[in-house]
This record gives sequence, structure tokens and C-alpha cells, in this order.
Amino acid sequence: MWAMQLKTPGTPLIRAELPDRQPGEGEVRVAVAACGVCRTDLHVVDGELPNPKLPIVPGHEIVGRIDAIGRNVQGLEIGMRVGIPWLGHTCGVCPYCLGGHENLCDRPLFTGYTRDGGYATAAVADARYVFALPERGDDVATAPLLCAGLIGWRALRIAGEGRRVGLYGFGAAAHIIAQVARVQGREVFAFTRGGDLAGQNFARALGACWAGASDEKPPDELDCAIIFAPVGPLVPAALRAVRKGGRVVCAGIHMSDIPSFPYRLLWEERQIVSVANLTREDAREFFGFVATADIKTTTKAYPLSRANEALSDLRSGNLEGAAVLVPDGAQADKPSGRLRSS
Ligand SMILES: [Zn+2]
Ligand SMILES: [Zn+2]
Repeated sequence: MWAMQLKTPGTPLIRAELPDRQPGEGEVRVAVAACGVCRTDLHVVDGELPNPKLPIVPGHEIVGRIDAIGRNVQGLEIGMRVGIPWLGHTCGVCPYCLGGHENLCDRPLFTGYTRDGGYATAAVADARYVFALPERGDDVATAPLLCAGLIGWRALRIAGEGRRVGLYGFGAAAHIIAQVARVQGREVFAFTRGGDLAGQNFARALGACWAGASDEKPPDELDCAIIFAPVGPLVPAALRAVRKGGRVVCAGIHMSDIPSFPYRLLWEERQIVSVANLTREDAREFFGFVATADIKTTTKAYPLSRANEALSDLRSGNLEGAAVLVPDGAQADKPSGRLRSS
């Protein structure tokens, strides 16, 4: 197998030939068909997250097929189409795991951060955190669901039942969650960088009833807002846009500092919360929902060997939807795919 590996944060990924690893007890090996590029990968590569395993193979939106199984694995078989998400392992015994909050586990492992991920031709994973995927939908179109979709889903659930939803930062996660919110009968208000008219048009094309710059006041008060962009000043901006009792959800793992703001923006029972990681229950819920809805992902496929180019396009915002890596010679340059229930 080979992989695109990070040796030192702040430097480009390097192609590395690695020995084929046999899965250990409770593990499976997956031949990677596609791996999405998430903003969290950028934070890992840029050294913005503490204590990564080094060297590390990034990537936690993995779609592939099981090609080897270790001992004591239940419910998975060779050849099965599976997904490997960000949450790669939890301890099972800490108060958070025992309390049903495995996303907050005290001793977790995260795919592509503290255990090797999917910027590779193969990945070994803890079988309990691998889930079977339906056979429909192509691999590239499915990959962004594994984190952008899943974390977005958790953020939308935590945002509450409000009808008017603001999405700040219209990238991989927002472009999926806008469609989810529309299917649920909500109104979507999309906020982009000032002057990003292409991003605003993209949001309208996916069903947003309004799109504008993040410092603009939307035509209606929002019931809730989700911040996907890692930009602290969006927190007071979103608080300004939500109604009394409204909630602002910060969905990223890293954000620049939040500037000070007048207390009156928080007053009247407005709330700020963050969303961390995911649970396996989130994945079951979300993929159950996707099976009944017509969610289209917009993707740009890159050969695995050009992972650095995909990362830099994401960093510069030179991307509509989600970047996805495919092992060289597989199905690169394939455009967007559609996921359908039938
Ligand atoms: Zn735990
Ligand atoms: Zn992610």
C-alpha cells in the first residue's frame, strides 16, 4: 500500500510506500475507494490541533471495501462496502462513554489524526466504528457524507427544531445540510464571505431562500444558526441574526478567537454551543435519513497523489462543494454524483 503522509505539521504531505498491514484483533482492513478532504484535515496538516500521531496519514471520510478481517469481528464480511468516520475508537468505560456521550470520550482515537486514515490505498480500522454502507451512490459522491454530512447532521439536530436556519460558511458540510434542512421543511439562510457571489448562487441553487455576506442582516430573524467556517467573529455576527431564545452552534473543531461583544447580543436567552465529534448513533440516524431523501453532493475528485493540491484548494476557498481523493487510476476526474433512495 502507499499513502500521502504528514511527517511534520506545516509541511506538504509526502508519498510513502508502507508495508501492507494485517488487521489485528477486532480490526478490519479496507481497500480505499474514495476519501473526502475535510477542513479538519487542514487543521491537522497546518498544526492547529494538538498532539497528532506523527507521521500520520490524514483522512476520515473513507469509503471502501473490506479486504481483510482480524479475529473477533462481528457483523462485517470481506467485500462489504463500508465507511470509516472521524470517531475511530472510544474507551467504553469513561463516564462519557457510559453516559451515552461517546463523542466526548476521555480516551478516544480519531481517524486521520491519532490513528492513520484514508489518504491511502488501504486503511485499518477498529471494526466497531466501521459501518456498512448501502450499495447505491458512487464512492466519490458518498465520501463527504462521512464527516461533512454526519457532523452537519449532529449540528443541525443540536440547533433544534427551528424553522429558519442560518448556515455560516457554505462549504462541504453546509451544502449537504442545506438540502437536509429543506427536506425537513425548513428555510435556509446562507452566509458566505463578502463578495463570494458564486458561493451565494450555489447556496440558492441548493434551496436557500436567501444568501448573502456574513455581516449582512438576513430579511427575517433566524431561529438558529450553525457556524461551519473556522472564523471567531462569526459568533457575534450569528448572535445578531438569531431571535430571542435562538441558538448558535459552532460545528468546527478549531476556530480563530471569538472577539469580545456586548452582552446584549447574548441576552434574552440566546445560546452558544459547540458540537464535538459524532456518535455511532448519529451515523445510524443520518444514513437512515439519507436512504429516504434525495441528497446530492457536489464534489471534485483528485488523484490521491495530488492530495496537497486538494488541501490547498480547500484552504484558498477555490472549491465548490467537497474535495475527494481517489487512488490514482481509479475514477479521478469523475464529476458530481447523485445519491438516491432508488
Ligand atoms: Zn470513553
Ligand atoms: Zn471532518
